[in-house]
Amino acid sequence: MSSIFSRIVRGEIPAATVYEDDLTLAFMDINPVARGHTLVICKEEYPDLFTLPAEALVAVARTTQHVALAIRTSLSPDGLNIVQNNGASAGQVIFHYHVHLIPRWENDGGPVRMGRHHESTPTDLQAVADQIRQQIAR
Ligand code: 5GP
Repeated sequence: MSSIFSRIVRGEIPAATVYEDDLTLAFMDINPVARGHTLVICKEEYPDLFTLPAEALVAVARTTQHVALAIRTSLSPDGLNIVQNNGASAGQVIFHYHVHLIPRWENDGGPVRMGRHHESTPTDLQAVADQIRQQIAR
C-alpha cells in the first residue's frame, strides 16, 4: 500500500508543485493552515523521522531551506514555522516523511495549530505555488 504522497510523486494525483529534484518534492498542502503552507517530502516512502536514512534527511533539509528562502522572497511573511510530526499521537496523519513550511504574519491568530484552516480553492493553491515556483526559477 503506497501513501497518498507516493501517488503524488508518481503523478497519479495532482498537486501544486513548487520544486522537485531526484530525492525530494515540494508542493502546497491541500488544507493549508496559512497561505503558502508547503510540504517537502522525501520521494521514497519512509513513514517517519525514525526510519528515514540520513541521506534522505539531508536532502529534505536542503530542499526545506531552498523553498523557505523562496517563500520569504515571494510571499514576504514575517516569520516561518517548520513542523514535522511523527506518530499519530503527535498529529501525524500521512505516514510518509514530510516537513511543513508554514509562513506566518504578525497578528495572524497566534501559535500554529495544525487544525487551523486557511480557506483555499485549488486555484488559490496553484496561484501561490506559481508565486513560489517562479521565485525558485529566478
Ligand atoms: P501530518 O499531520 O501527517 O503531518 O500532515 C499531513 C498533511 O498532508 C496535512 O496538512 C494535510 O492537509 C496534507 N494532505 C493530506 N492529503 C493531501 C493531498 O492529497 N494532497 C496534498 N497536497 N496535501 C495533503
